[in-house]
Amino acid sequence: MRKFVIMGVQGSGKGTQSRMLCNTYGFKHISTGDMFREEIQSQSPIAEKIKNLINQGNLVPDEIVSEVVRKGLSQLDDSKGFILDGFPRNAAQAQFLIDNIDIDAVIVLEIPDQVVIERIMSRRLCSECKRDYNIDFRPPTVEGICDDCGGKLIQREDDYEEAVKKRIADYHASTSPAIELLSTKYRVERFDVTKGSKYAQPLIRECLGLSELEEVH
Ligand SMILES: [Zn+2]
Repeated sequence: MRKFVIMGVQGSGKGTQSRMLCNTYGFKHISTGDMFREEIQSQSPIAEKIKNLINQGNLVPDEIVSEVVRKGLSQLDDSKGFILDGFPRNAAQAQFLIDNIDIDAVIVLEIPDQVVIERIMSRRLCSECKRDYNIDFRPPTVEGICDDCGGKLIQREDDYEEAVKKRIADYHASTSPAIELLSTKYRVERFDVTKGSKYAQPLIRECLGLSELEEVH
């Protein structure tokens, strides 16, 4: 069983890289966001705690996040492997991983902040049907208008420059110490994804020795 963690700022293409690896090698993509949604629906004692915290506007503490991750990973015994996405987010969570779970390698996607800022700022959303666009890579046929429903395209408030810069700064502040800690136990491999996901994917496969694995598709 191959075990990987993938890390990268929002907009670095973590989901795309994970999906390509999982589709090819049959790994499971373990997104902590998905695990949380499932856990909350499960009506377990942890679910109750999480719901109360969220309803009161609190952040879910690291112990509970870690517990959900441990539980999710323990259900994967017969799979070909997993790619853990969204955990660890900080040094405390990294320490939990180190203490509890063996990982083959940590995949760190790297991209200059300015490139991410430009990518995120070029995103648009249909105000009617919520379809996503990117005015650089996937523009609508008519500027500012949704191809599907004719709705007006808008920019999310989250995607305004100041908000994006703050998210990126927060990401670096919490994950840099986490990556440093992870490197004391695990193999950490960094990949430059500035040229795009398709360019980086073969480099990741080669570096991690995946090309010798059987492909499921
Ligand atoms: Zn639309």
